Amino acid sequence: VEGQSQIQQDASNHILHPFVDNHALKNKGARIMSKADGVYVWDDQGKRYLDAFAGLWCVNLGYGRKELIDAASKQMATLPYYNLFFNTSTPSTVQLAKAIAEIAPDHMNNVFFTGSGSEANDTVFRMVRRYWDVKGQPNKKIFIGRHNGYHGSTVAGTSLGGMKPMHKQGDLPIQGIEHIRQPYWFDEGGDLSPDTFGLIAANALEEKILEVGADNVAAFIAEPIQGAGGVIIPPATYWPEIQRITNKYDILLVVDEVICGFGRTGNWFGCDTLKIKADLMPIAKGLSSGYLPIGGVIISDRVADVLKSEESGDFLHGFTYSGHPTCAAVALENIRILKDEKVIENIQQQTGPYLAEQLQTLADHPLVGEVRTLGMLGAIELVQDKATRTRYPGDGKVGGICRDHALDQGLILRATGDTMLLSPPLVITKEEIDKVIEMTKNALDKTLKDMQ
Ligand code: PLP
Repeated sequence: VEGQSQIQQDASNHILHPFVDNHALKNKGARIMSKADGVYVWDDQGKRYLDAFAGLWCVNLGYGRKELIDAASKQMATLPYYNLFFNTSTPSTVQLAKAIAEIAPDHMNNVFFTGSGSEANDTVFRMVRRYWDVKGQPNKKIFIGRHNGYHGSTVAGTSLGGMKPMHKQGDLPIQGIEHIRQPYWFDEGGDLSPDTFGLIAANALEEKILEVGADNVAAFIAEPIQGAGGVIIPPATYWPEIQRITNKYDILLVVDEVICGFGRTGNWFGCDTLKIKADLMPIAKGLSSGYLPIGGVIISDRVADVLKSEESGDFLHGFTYSGHPTCAAVALENIRILKDEKVIENIQQQTGPYLAEQLQTLADHPLVGEVRTLGMLGAIELVQDKATRTRYPGDGKVGGICRDHALDQGLILRATGDTMLLSPPLVITKEEIDKVIEMTKNALDKTLKDMQ
Protein backbone atom coordinates (compact mmCIF):
# COMPACT_ATOMS: atom_id res chain seq x y z
CA VAL A 1 0.00 0.00 0.00
CA GLU A 2 1.36 3.36 -1.02
CA GLY A 3 2.74 5.55 1.76
CA GLN A 4 3.09 2.67 4.20
CA SER A 5 6.38 1.55 5.67
CA GLN A 6 7.52 -2.06 5.34
CA ILE A 7 6.74 -2.77 8.96
CA GLN A 8 3.20 -1.39 8.56
CA GLN A 9 2.65 -3.64 5.57
CA ASP A 10 4.11 -6.61 7.42
CA ALA A 11 1.80 -5.85 10.35
CA SER A 12 -1.31 -6.04 8.21
CA ASN A 13 0.02 -9.00 6.21
CA HIS A 14 0.89 -11.15 9.20
CA ILE A 15 -1.13 -10.11 12.25
CA LEU A 16 -4.82 -10.50 12.87
CA HIS A 17 -5.20 -7.51 15.18
CA PRO A 18 -7.59 -7.59 18.16
CA PHE A 19 -10.61 -5.28 18.37
CA VAL A 20 -10.16 -3.71 14.94
CA ASP A 21 -11.56 -3.99 11.42
CA ASN A 22 -8.61 -5.85 9.91
CA HIS A 23 -9.70 -5.04 6.37
CA ALA A 24 -9.73 -1.29 7.05
CA LEU A 25 -6.39 -1.60 8.81
CA LYS A 26 -4.78 -2.80 5.57
CA ASN A 27 -5.42 0.57 3.96
CA LYS A 28 -4.96 2.73 7.00
CA GLY A 29 -1.77 1.06 8.23
CA ALA A 30 -1.14 0.27 11.88
CA ARG A 31 0.55 2.85 14.05
CA ILE A 32 3.84 1.23 15.01
CA MET A 33 4.81 2.14 18.56
CA SER A 34 8.51 1.64 18.98
CA LYS A 35 9.78 3.19 22.22
CA ALA A 36 8.60 4.83 25.40
CA ASP A 37 9.71 6.77 28.44
CA GLY A 38 7.75 8.16 31.39
CA VAL A 39 4.26 9.11 30.15
CA TYR A 40 5.39 9.29 26.51
CA VAL A 41 5.47 6.79 23.64
CA TRP A 42 7.01 7.31 20.20
CA ASP A 43 5.94 5.76 16.91
CA ASP A 44 8.42 4.56 14.30
CA GLN A 45 8.13 7.89 12.48
CA GLY A 46 9.49 9.63 15.57
CA LYS A 47 6.18 11.23 16.54
CA ARG A 48 5.74 11.57 20.30
CA TYR A 49 2.45 10.92 22.12
CA LEU A 50 1.49 11.63 25.70
CA ASP A 51 -0.17 8.36 26.67
CA ALA A 52 -3.20 9.42 28.72
CA PHE A 53 -4.44 5.86 28.54
CA ALA A 54 -1.42 4.10 30.12
CA GLY A 55 -1.28 1.55 27.30
CA LEU A 56 -4.53 -0.26 28.04
CA TRP A 57 -5.23 1.07 31.56
CA CYS A 58 -2.13 -0.70 32.79
CA VAL A 59 1.23 1.11 32.65
CA ASN A 60 0.64 2.57 36.10
CA LEU A 61 4.25 3.46 36.91
CA GLY A 62 4.86 4.84 33.43
CA TYR A 63 7.38 3.54 30.91
CA GLY A 64 11.08 2.83 31.31
CA ARG A 65 11.25 2.06 35.06
CA LYS A 66 14.70 0.60 35.52
CA GLU A 67 13.79 -1.15 38.80
CA LEU A 68 11.14 -3.24 37.02
CA ILE A 69 13.54 -4.12 34.22
CA ASP A 70 16.21 -5.10 36.76
CA ALA A 71 13.76 -7.19 38.78
CA ALA A 72 12.87 -9.15 35.63
CA SER A 73 16.44 -9.69 34.51
CA LYS A 74 17.62 -10.72 37.98
CA GLN A 75 14.81 -13.24 38.33
CA MET A 76 15.38 -14.57 34.82
CA ALA A 77 19.02 -15.21 35.61
CA THR A 78 18.11 -17.05 38.84
CA LEU A 79 14.96 -18.97 37.95
CA PRO A 80 13.25 -17.75 34.78
CA TYR A 81 10.36 -20.17 35.03
CA TYR A 82 8.86 -22.75 37.22
CA ASN A 83 5.26 -23.73 37.84
CA LEU A 84 2.89 -23.99 40.76
CA PHE A 85 1.40 -27.35 39.79
CA PHE A 86 1.78 -30.52 41.87
CA ASN A 87 2.98 -29.12 45.20
CA THR A 88 5.55 -26.58 44.03
CA SER A 89 5.95 -22.83 44.49
CA THR A 90 8.70 -20.29 43.91
CA PRO A 91 10.08 -17.58 46.24
CA SER A 92 9.01 -14.55 44.20
CA THR A 93 5.51 -15.97 43.74
CA VAL A 94 5.12 -16.61 47.46
CA GLN A 95 6.42 -13.15 48.33
CA LEU A 96 4.02 -11.60 45.86
CA ALA A 97 1.02 -13.49 47.28
CA LYS A 98 1.98 -12.29 50.76
CA ALA A 99 2.41 -8.71 49.56
CA ILE A 100 -1.02 -8.80 47.89
CA ALA A 101 -2.61 -10.22 51.05
CA GLU A 102 -1.09 -7.32 53.01
CA ILE A 103 -2.57 -4.60 50.81
CA ALA A 104 -5.89 -6.37 50.16
CA PRO A 105 -8.85 -5.88 52.53
CA ASP A 106 -8.38 -7.76 55.86
CA HIS A 107 -10.77 -10.57 54.99
CA MET A 108 -8.83 -11.49 51.82
CA ASN A 109 -5.61 -13.45 52.29
CA ASN A 110 -5.23 -15.80 49.30
CA VAL A 111 -4.44 -15.43 45.61
CA PHE A 112 -4.89 -17.72 42.62
CA PHE A 113 -2.48 -16.60 39.88
CA THR A 114 -3.26 -16.36 36.17
CA GLY A 115 -1.60 -14.81 33.13
CA SER A 116 -4.26 -12.18 32.42
CA GLY A 117 -7.52 -10.58 33.50
CA SER A 118 -9.55 -12.77 31.15
CA GLU A 119 -8.05 -15.90 32.68
CA ALA A 120 -8.78 -14.44 36.11
CA ASN A 121 -12.47 -14.20 35.22
CA ASP A 122 -12.52 -17.69 33.73
CA THR A 123 -10.99 -18.81 37.00
CA VAL A 124 -13.76 -17.02 38.89
CA PHE A 125 -16.34 -18.92 36.85
CA ARG A 126 -14.95 -22.30 37.83
CA MET A 127 -13.94 -21.33 41.35
CA VAL A 128 -17.38 -20.01 42.29
CA ARG A 129 -19.18 -23.11 41.03
CA ARG A 130 -16.65 -25.30 42.79
CA TYR A 131 -17.22 -23.34 46.01
CA TRP A 132 -20.97 -24.00 45.97
CA ASP A 133 -20.41 -27.65 45.02
CA VAL A 134 -18.11 -28.28 47.96
CA LYS A 135 -20.57 -26.42 50.22
CA GLY A 136 -23.27 -28.87 49.15
CA GLN A 137 -25.33 -26.32 47.19
CA PRO A 138 -24.60 -27.42 43.60
CA ASN A 139 -27.74 -25.73 42.29
CA LYS A 140 -26.17 -22.33 42.83
CA LYS A 141 -24.76 -22.00 39.31
CA ILE A 142 -26.12 -18.83 37.72
CA PHE A 143 -23.93 -15.76 37.34
CA ILE A 144 -25.42 -12.32 37.03
CA GLY A 145 -23.34 -9.69 35.22
CA ARG A 146 -24.21 -6.31 33.70
CA HIS A 147 -24.92 -4.95 30.26
CA ASN A 148 -21.87 -3.17 28.93
CA GLY A 149 -19.61 -4.71 31.57
CA TYR A 150 -16.22 -6.00 30.43
CA HIS A 151 -14.52 -9.03 31.94
CA GLY A 152 -12.24 -10.14 29.11
CA SER A 153 -12.27 -11.95 25.80
CA THR A 154 -12.19 -15.62 26.72
CA VAL A 155 -15.41 -17.60 26.50
CA ALA A 156 -16.37 -17.13 30.15
CA GLY A 157 -14.98 -13.59 30.26
CA THR A 158 -16.99 -12.51 27.22
CA SER A 159 -20.08 -14.25 28.59
CA LEU A 160 -19.82 -12.65 32.03
CA GLY A 161 -19.31 -9.31 30.32
CA GLY A 162 -22.24 -7.58 28.73
CA MET A 163 -20.86 -6.34 25.41
CA LYS A 164 -23.58 -7.31 22.93
CA PRO A 165 -21.43 -6.98 19.77
CA MET A 166 -18.94 -9.37 21.38
CA HIS A 167 -21.70 -11.84 22.28
CA LYS A 168 -22.68 -11.98 18.62
CA GLN A 169 -19.28 -13.41 17.76
CA GLY A 170 -19.12 -16.96 19.06
CA ASP A 171 -22.78 -17.38 20.03
CA LEU A 172 -22.36 -16.19 23.60
CA PRO A 173 -23.09 -15.91 26.47
CA ILE A 174 -22.73 -19.54 27.51
CA GLN A 175 -25.54 -21.04 29.56
CA GLY A 176 -26.16 -19.92 33.09
CA ILE A 177 -25.25 -16.26 32.71
CA GLU A 178 -27.76 -13.42 33.05
CA HIS A 179 -27.28 -9.67 32.74
CA ILE A 180 -28.91 -6.68 34.41
CA ARG A 181 -28.84 -2.99 33.54
CA GLN A 182 -25.82 -0.81 34.23
CA PRO A 183 -25.74 2.19 36.61
CA TYR A 184 -25.11 4.67 33.79
CA TRP A 185 -26.99 7.77 34.90
CA PHE A 186 -25.77 9.99 32.06
CA ASP A 187 -27.22 7.75 29.35
CA GLU A 188 -30.08 6.03 31.14
CA GLY A 189 -31.04 8.17 34.11
CA GLY A 190 -33.57 10.39 32.32
CA ASP A 191 -35.12 12.90 34.72
CA LEU A 192 -34.27 10.90 37.82
CA SER A 193 -31.72 12.16 40.31
CA PRO A 194 -28.49 10.12 40.22
CA ASP A 195 -29.23 8.75 43.71
CA THR A 196 -32.72 7.56 42.82
CA PHE A 197 -31.46 6.08 39.58
CA GLY A 198 -28.62 4.32 41.46
CA LEU A 199 -31.15 2.54 43.68
CA ILE A 200 -33.27 1.51 40.70
CA ALA A 201 -30.24 0.14 38.86
CA ALA A 202 -29.17 -1.83 41.94
CA ASN A 203 -32.65 -3.17 42.54
CA ALA A 204 -32.52 -4.75 39.08
CA LEU A 205 -30.25 -7.29 40.77
CA GLU A 206 -32.89 -8.22 43.32
CA GLU A 207 -35.51 -8.52 40.58
CA LYS A 208 -33.26 -10.83 38.57
CA ILE A 209 -32.48 -12.96 41.63
CA LEU A 210 -36.19 -13.36 42.39
CA GLU A 211 -36.87 -14.16 38.73
CA VAL A 212 -34.34 -17.03 38.52
CA GLY A 213 -34.57 -18.09 42.17
CA ALA A 214 -32.01 -17.23 44.83
CA ASP A 215 -31.20 -20.93 45.31
CA ASN A 216 -29.89 -21.00 41.75
CA VAL A 217 -27.70 -17.90 41.87
CA ALA A 218 -23.98 -18.36 42.45
CA ALA A 219 -22.56 -14.85 42.10
CA PHE A 220 -22.94 -11.30 40.91
CA ILE A 221 -19.98 -9.88 39.00
CA ALA A 222 -19.26 -6.22 38.25
CA GLU A 223 -16.44 -3.74 37.92
CA PRO A 224 -16.35 -1.14 40.73
CA ILE A 225 -16.38 1.44 37.95
CA GLN A 226 -17.21 0.09 34.50
CA GLY A 227 -14.04 0.84 32.55
CA ALA A 228 -14.34 -0.19 28.90
CA GLY A 229 -18.07 0.55 29.13
CA GLY A 230 -17.22 4.25 29.56
CA VAL A 231 -15.68 4.95 33.00
CA ILE A 232 -19.14 4.73 34.49
CA ILE A 233 -18.90 5.92 38.09
CA PRO A 234 -22.06 4.66 39.77
CA PRO A 235 -24.22 6.96 41.92
CA ALA A 236 -23.36 6.83 45.64
CA THR A 237 -26.50 4.80 46.39
CA TYR A 238 -25.59 1.95 44.03
CA TRP A 239 -22.95 -0.16 45.74
CA PRO A 240 -24.43 -0.17 49.29
CA GLU A 241 -27.68 -1.48 47.79
CA ILE A 242 -25.85 -4.16 45.75
CA GLN A 243 -24.03 -5.21 48.91
CA ARG A 244 -27.31 -5.45 50.83
CA ILE A 245 -28.85 -7.63 48.10
CA THR A 246 -25.91 -10.04 47.74
CA ASN A 247 -25.80 -10.46 51.53
CA LYS A 248 -29.55 -11.00 51.79
CA TYR A 249 -29.66 -13.80 49.21
CA ASP A 250 -26.29 -15.38 50.06
CA ILE A 251 -24.74 -14.69 46.68
CA LEU A 252 -21.02 -14.26 46.16
CA LEU A 253 -19.93 -10.78 45.16
CA VAL A 254 -17.18 -10.71 42.55
CA VAL A 255 -15.67 -7.26 42.05
CA ASP A 256 -13.47 -7.11 38.96
CA GLU A 257 -10.46 -4.98 39.95
CA VAL A 258 -8.52 -5.53 36.72
CA ILE A 259 -8.59 -1.78 35.99
CA CYS A 260 -9.29 -0.30 39.42
CA GLY A 261 -6.78 -2.38 41.38
CA PHE A 262 -3.34 -1.15 42.41
CA GLY A 263 -4.05 2.51 42.90
CA ARG A 264 -6.10 3.69 39.95
CA THR A 265 -8.98 5.07 42.06
CA GLY A 266 -6.74 6.60 44.74
CA ASN A 267 -6.69 3.54 47.03
CA TRP A 268 -5.16 0.12 46.58
CA PHE A 269 -8.48 -1.22 45.29
CA GLY A 270 -11.72 0.16 43.90
CA CYS A 271 -13.40 -1.77 46.74
CA ASP A 272 -11.55 0.47 49.24
CA THR A 273 -12.67 3.65 47.49
CA LEU A 274 -16.29 2.57 47.06
CA LYS A 275 -16.48 0.69 50.39
CA ILE A 276 -17.42 -2.67 48.91
CA LYS A 277 -16.78 -5.98 50.67
CA ALA A 278 -16.04 -8.48 47.89
CA ASP A 279 -15.77 -12.25 48.06
CA LEU A 280 -13.46 -12.44 45.04
CA MET A 281 -11.44 -9.78 43.21
CA PRO A 282 -9.97 -10.56 39.76
CA ILE A 283 -6.79 -8.53 39.15
CA ALA A 284 -4.25 -8.01 36.31
CA LYS A 285 -2.97 -4.95 34.39
CA GLY A 286 -1.62 -2.59 37.10
CA LEU A 287 -0.40 -5.55 39.16
CA SER A 288 2.81 -5.43 37.09
CA SER A 289 2.23 -2.00 35.51
CA GLY A 290 1.79 -4.04 32.34
CA TYR A 291 5.53 -4.78 32.07
CA LEU A 292 4.85 -8.54 32.07
CA PRO A 293 1.58 -10.42 31.79
CA ILE A 294 0.24 -11.48 35.17
CA GLY A 295 -3.19 -11.61 36.77
CA GLY A 296 -5.01 -13.43 39.49
CA VAL A 297 -8.00 -13.71 41.75
CA ILE A 298 -7.80 -12.38 45.30
CA ILE A 299 -9.85 -14.73 47.45
CA SER A 300 -11.73 -14.00 50.66
CA ASP A 301 -11.25 -16.25 53.68
CA ARG A 302 -14.87 -17.35 53.28
CA VAL A 303 -14.11 -18.88 49.87
CA ALA A 304 -10.53 -19.94 50.60
CA ASP A 305 -11.60 -21.87 53.72
CA VAL A 306 -13.97 -23.96 51.63
CA LEU A 307 -11.54 -24.54 48.73
CA LYS A 308 -8.78 -25.47 51.17
CA SER A 309 -11.01 -27.70 53.29
CA GLU A 310 -10.47 -31.43 53.62
CA GLU A 311 -13.63 -32.19 51.64
CA SER A 312 -12.57 -30.02 48.72
CA GLY A 313 -9.83 -32.26 47.27
CA ASP A 314 -7.79 -31.25 44.20
CA PHE A 315 -8.68 -27.94 42.58
CA LEU A 316 -8.38 -29.04 38.94
CA HIS A 317 -7.55 -25.67 37.45
CA GLY A 318 -4.37 -23.80 36.56
CA PHE A 319 -2.22 -22.37 33.81
CA THR A 320 1.36 -23.03 32.76
CA TYR A 321 2.07 -19.42 33.70
CA SER A 322 0.13 -19.36 36.99
CA GLY A 323 2.49 -17.60 39.39
CA HIS A 324 5.26 -17.21 36.79
CA PRO A 325 8.32 -16.27 38.89
CA THR A 326 9.62 -13.55 36.57
CA CYS A 327 6.21 -11.88 36.24
CA ALA A 328 5.83 -12.21 40.01
CA ALA A 329 9.21 -10.57 40.66
CA VAL A 330 8.20 -7.60 38.52
CA ALA A 331 4.80 -7.33 40.23
CA LEU A 332 6.46 -7.44 43.63
CA GLU A 333 8.82 -4.63 42.67
CA ASN A 334 5.88 -2.69 41.23
CA ILE A 335 4.06 -2.91 44.58
CA ARG A 336 7.23 -1.87 46.43
CA ILE A 337 7.56 1.24 44.28
CA LEU A 338 3.87 2.14 44.67
CA LYS A 339 4.41 1.99 48.44
CA ASP A 340 7.85 3.58 48.75
CA GLU A 341 7.11 6.45 46.39
CA LYS A 342 3.70 7.03 47.98
CA VAL A 343 2.13 7.00 44.53
CA ILE A 344 -1.37 6.33 45.84
CA GLU A 345 -1.19 9.02 48.55
CA ASN A 346 -0.05 11.46 45.88
CA ILE A 347 -3.13 10.67 43.76
CA GLN A 348 -5.37 11.15 46.79
CA GLN A 349 -3.86 14.41 47.90
CA GLN A 350 -2.40 16.01 44.80
CA THR A 351 -2.85 14.74 41.29
CA GLY A 352 -6.34 13.21 41.68
CA PRO A 353 -7.98 16.47 42.82
CA TYR A 354 -5.90 18.36 40.24
CA LEU A 355 -7.03 16.13 37.36
CA ALA A 356 -10.65 16.49 38.54
CA GLU A 357 -10.41 20.28 38.74
CA GLN A 358 -8.67 20.70 35.40
CA LEU A 359 -10.90 18.28 33.51
CA GLN A 360 -13.91 20.10 34.96
CA THR A 361 -12.78 23.25 33.10
CA LEU A 362 -13.79 21.41 29.90
CA ALA A 363 -17.36 20.94 31.14
CA ASP A 364 -18.38 24.33 29.66
CA HIS A 365 -17.32 23.30 26.18
CA PRO A 366 -20.35 23.18 23.83
CA LEU A 367 -19.54 19.59 22.88
CA VAL A 368 -19.30 18.33 26.46
CA GLY A 369 -22.32 16.95 28.29
CA GLU A 370 -20.56 15.76 31.42
CA VAL A 371 -17.09 15.28 32.85
CA ARG A 372 -16.44 12.55 35.44
CA THR A 373 -13.31 11.65 37.37
CA LEU A 374 -12.25 9.41 40.19
CA GLY A 375 -8.58 9.09 41.06
CA MET A 376 -6.71 8.64 37.78
CA LEU A 377 -9.81 7.74 35.76
CA GLY A 378 -11.72 10.25 33.69
CA ALA A 379 -14.54 10.45 31.15
CA ILE A 380 -15.83 13.21 28.90
CA GLU A 381 -19.28 12.74 27.38
CA LEU A 382 -19.66 14.26 23.92
CA VAL A 383 -23.15 15.47 23.04
CA GLN A 384 -25.04 17.40 20.43
CA ASP A 385 -27.30 19.04 23.02
CA LYS A 386 -25.97 19.64 26.50
CA ALA A 387 -29.30 20.36 28.19
CA THR A 388 -31.04 17.18 27.10
CA ARG A 389 -27.90 14.99 27.03
CA THR A 390 -28.70 14.16 23.41
CA ARG A 391 -26.02 12.31 21.42
CA TYR A 392 -24.97 12.98 17.86
CA PRO A 393 -26.31 10.46 15.35
CA GLY A 394 -23.70 8.05 14.03
CA ASP A 395 -23.03 5.83 17.02
CA GLY A 396 -19.51 6.68 18.09
CA LYS A 397 -18.62 8.83 15.10
CA VAL A 398 -17.92 12.02 17.03
CA GLY A 399 -15.88 10.09 19.60
CA GLY A 400 -13.73 8.65 16.82
CA ILE A 401 -13.19 12.09 15.30
CA CYS A 402 -12.17 13.53 18.65
CA ARG A 403 -9.77 10.65 19.32
CA ASP A 404 -8.11 11.20 15.93
CA HIS A 405 -7.73 14.94 16.56
CA ALA A 406 -6.11 14.14 19.89
CA LEU A 407 -3.73 11.71 18.20
CA ASP A 408 -2.80 14.33 15.59
CA GLN A 409 -1.70 16.58 18.40
CA GLY A 410 0.24 13.85 20.17
CA LEU A 411 -2.26 12.75 22.81
CA ILE A 412 -3.60 9.24 23.30
CA LEU A 413 -7.19 9.14 24.56
CA ARG A 414 -9.63 6.30 24.07
CA ALA A 415 -13.12 6.69 22.65
CA THR A 416 -15.86 4.29 23.72
CA GLY A 417 -18.78 5.34 21.56
CA ASP A 418 -18.97 9.09 22.14
CA THR A 419 -17.29 8.96 25.52
CA MET A 420 -13.66 10.04 25.71
CA LEU A 421 -11.76 8.06 28.33
CA LEU A 422 -8.65 8.92 30.31
CA SER A 423 -6.54 6.57 32.38
CA PRO A 424 -3.06 8.08 32.53
CA PRO A 425 -0.08 6.52 34.30
CA LEU A 426 -0.54 6.99 38.05
CA VAL A 427 2.73 8.91 38.20
CA ILE A 428 1.62 11.64 35.80
CA THR A 429 2.66 15.10 37.08
CA LYS A 430 0.55 18.26 37.29
CA GLU A 431 2.53 19.76 34.40
CA GLU A 432 1.78 16.71 32.28
CA ILE A 433 -1.90 16.91 33.28
CA ASP A 434 -1.88 20.51 32.02
CA LYS A 435 -0.64 19.25 28.66
CA VAL A 436 -3.37 16.60 28.54
CA ILE A 437 -6.03 19.23 29.20
CA GLU A 438 -4.64 21.63 26.61
CA MET A 439 -4.47 19.00 23.87
CA THR A 440 -7.91 17.65 24.83
CA LYS A 441 -9.39 21.14 24.56
CA ASN A 442 -7.82 21.60 21.12
CA ALA A 443 -9.19 18.23 20.03
CA LEU A 444 -12.67 19.21 21.27
CA ASP A 445 -12.51 22.54 19.39
CA LYS A 446 -11.49 20.85 16.15
CA THR A 447 -14.14 18.15 16.57
CA LEU A 448 -16.83 20.78 17.11
CA LYS A 449 -15.80 22.53 13.91
CA ASP A 450 -16.01 19.24 12.01
CA MET A 451 -19.51 18.65 13.32
CA GLN A 452 -20.79 22.09 12.26
N1 PLP B 1 -11.65 -7.19 33.40
C1 PLP B 1 -11.64 -5.87 33.19
C2 PLP B 1 -12.43 -4.96 34.07
C3 PLP B 1 -10.89 -5.34 32.12
O1 PLP B 1 -10.91 -4.03 31.85
C4 PLP B 1 -10.14 -6.22 31.31
C5 PLP B 1 -9.31 -5.71 30.20
O2 PLP B 1 -9.46 -4.59 29.74
C6 PLP B 1 -10.19 -7.58 31.59
C7 PLP B 1 -10.95 -8.03 32.65
C8 PLP B 1 -9.46 -8.57 30.75
O3 PLP B 1 -8.11 -8.54 31.04
P1 PLP B 1 -7.06 -9.11 29.97
O4 PLP B 1 -7.15 -8.23 28.77
O5 PLP B 1 -5.75 -9.00 30.72
O6 PLP B 1 -7.40 -10.50 29.69
